[in-house]
Amino acid sequence: MRMTILQENEQDCKLEIIEGTGEVLEDLSGTGRKRPWSERKSESVELLNLFEMARKIDESVISQTRLQALKDCGSWLTFAQQADGTRRLANANFCRLRLCPLCGWRRSLKLFSQVSKISEAILAEKKARFVFVTLTVENVKGEELRATIKRMNEGFKCLVQDKKGMAASATFRANLMGYMKAIEVTYNTKRNDFHPHIHCIFELAPKYFRGKEGGYLTHEDWRVMWRSVMKLDYEPQVDVRAIKNHHGKSRGGSCKVSC
Ligand SMILES: [Zn+2]
Repeated sequence: MRMTILQENEQDCKLEIIEGTGEVLEDLSGTGRKRPWSERKSESVELLNLFEMARKIDESVISQTRLQALKDCGSWLTFAQQADGTRRLANANFCRLRLCPLCGWRRSLKLFSQVSKISEAILAEKKARFVFVTLTVENVKGEELRATIKRMNEGFKCLVQDKKGMAASATFRANLMGYMKAIEVTYNTKRNDFHPHIHCIFELAPKYFRGKEGGYLTHEDWRVMWRSVMKLDYEPQVDVRAIKNHHGKSRGGSCKVSC
């Protein structure tokens, strides 16, 4: 991996380029946790190996150019060094392949940062609050994954759009100001099955939190609703967390979501 550091000179603000220092960098998050660059790059290399094998059977699975981009993903990184010595990633050669674990991780960091800034600004106005919800189903085999995700998307639509839904969710929808939803699929190597689940953030009018008359849904209400719209014959796991304030402290549901 090649590394370039752009050093900001305080006097004339010109960037001094320092290349190939041989220094092994450690990237720490805001909370002091070591960021998993090596782990994500190793996973990216695993994906590369799989694509190379797949191309021997069917060349159309990925073009040679994109395969090369995946191979080179993150092979050089440019950091801008600030006056206090801290460094920020300024540029890199990411492949931007949808399946690339390194790029997916970077995308999720960027999205988290953007969502945090937007939600903090909204919370500061005190005109809305947020609830984070994770909706799950039981693990499925690979051949059932596509159909399961389709059903989950339809089920989610019933929660937020269907005007003829259950009474509990009608009041919820009346207070719903907006939402963001993402589907995540994790793979269980031991069982060789998949765990698709939906992460969503609901923006709600403050009156939603004023008990039943505001339409407040308990953890059990969410579980019952999700089971109903998904027409499940078992109790699905859901996780519900209301964000209390703009410092990010949350009130969590007791239910753990397992993969
Ligand atoms: Zn990549």
